[in-house]
Amino acid sequence: MTIKLYNTKVRKKVDFEPIDPNNVRMYVCGPTVYDRAHLGNARPVIVFDTLFRLLRHTYGADHVTYVRNFTDVDDKINATALARQQAGAAGTLEDLINERSNETISWYLEDMGAVGAMEPNAAPRATDYIAEMIAMIENLIEKDHAYAAEGHALFRVRSYQDYGALSGRSVDDMIAGARVEVAPFKEDPMDFVLWKPSTDDQPGWDSPWGRGRPGWHIECSAMALDLLGEEFDIHGGGNDLQFPHHENEIAQSTCCGHGFANVWMHNEMLQVEGKKMSKSLGNFFTVRDLLDQGVPGEVIRLVFLLTHYRKPMDWTEAKRGEAEKMLADWVSVLQKHGYSPKTIEGLKASGDWVADAEFIGVLSNDLNTSGAISRMHVLAKAKTAAGLVPLAHALETLGLVTDWSVLETAANQDDDMPDWATSVIDRLIVERGNARDAKDWGEADRLRDLLNAAGVQVTDVAGTATWVPGPNFDPSVLEGLK
Ligand code: AMP
Ligand code: ZN
Repeated sequence: MTIKLYNTKVRKKVDFEPIDPNNVRMYVCGPTVYDRAHLGNARPVIVFDTLFRLLRHTYGADHVTYVRNFTDVDDKINATALARQQAGAAGTLEDLINERSNETISWYLEDMGAVGAMEPNAAPRATDYIAEMIAMIENLIEKDHAYAAEGHALFRVRSYQDYGALSGRSVDDMIAGARVEVAPFKEDPMDFVLWKPSTDDQPGWDSPWGRGRPGWHIECSAMALDLLGEEFDIHGGGNDLQFPHHENEIAQSTCCGHGFANVWMHNEMLQVEGKKMSKSLGNFFTVRDLLDQGVPGEVIRLVFLLTHYRKPMDWTEAKRGEAEKMLADWVSVLQKHGYSPKTIEGLKASGDWVADAEFIGVLSNDLNTSGAISRMHVLAKAKTAAGLVPLAHALETLGLVTDWSVLETAANQDDDMPDWATSVIDRLIVERGNARDAKDWGEADRLRDLLNAAGVQVTDVAGTATWVPGPNFDPSVLEGLK
């Protein structure tokens, strides 16, 4: 099964061909660890965790290396540590900085674990790679791609011909649009910081340019090089990182003479009820806030997966309800057909734990998670092992079930789905398909309206219609059709 991925660098979907199928390598920019992860931060985590799972399925669990870093050099971390010290907290500033990073990292792993994210194979901290960053900067200075000035080291952007190729902009366009910092020690306002001096109350390391700390971009270049090598397969992150962060990573690594990443992937941003999530709009919340309100992590994850990763995604209450219902229905259909944690264990041991080829095919098409979910509705309706085993497999592949003890919880009775309703809806969908084939649009619309009135959500995937009861599901509307 060939995986297709949209490569930002060439602006089209490409057949994914790993450099070494025995070791498929992916790097994703991780969080700056100054506070709890907000809901938007969970998007790249869930998207690339899903890709990680698909790669493991395709190439084998031991043949994928996923690295996601922690950026633990940041002025906001320092500010919190300093405030704590001024408020009388014990320990040196360095201790307090470490404490803040450590607590934020443990929250992050806990919250992301709750939304079904596996831990990557390596989760390096920038502060453990200072020597590697210094070596890389020295290499760039030697090659004239960087220079030292007033305690700083700066990357000479105009020395790299292809700067801007990822985001498809010219250097001059970027200067016009970007908030580039003009500083007297820069040769060109576009040049960016590789190293900067630290004051006594800022964390700092000795370097050929004096005591200081690295710029953000060099961190990822150095960690990716050390853990994945000069050339690797996939580099991911949010859309907002394309410029300048990813352009700068490419410039640094390429100018060191490395191939760097072949495929660049970017997730679109998250919004809340149609609006940008921001503190000033009062619609800002963290993953932890939702978990504390009792929204299960799997429901949060499913809401994300309902939208393709390259589309802006909206968090809404309606979607939360819809996702909750879908998950409950999948678990309930498995329970009703006698599936237990033991059954799943048995299937895995006997080699009968099989994936549905169509589900994997849809998912392999640039991570079409919503299409894959539609396929799961079809599998759930089969109500035989031929559908239900692949359904369970799919739930695990999408990270929606990470612990099969969910099957032990009191059977989730599907009270509002009487048996007759399933057959009426299935029949209406077939009739609607027939009407469409006969180009009888009036009849097709009438049937669709009827289904809508009952709150049934119909999705057409590759010519097959699937349905789920939506949040306003009311089968009584269809009672006359029994
Ligand atoms: P940060 O800690 O701000 O560097 O962000 C960590 C990751 O979260 C990056 O990959 C960002 O692109 C991503 N991110 C931040 N805000 C959002 C958002 N609203 N929607 C989706 N991804 C986001
Ligand atoms: Zn990065």
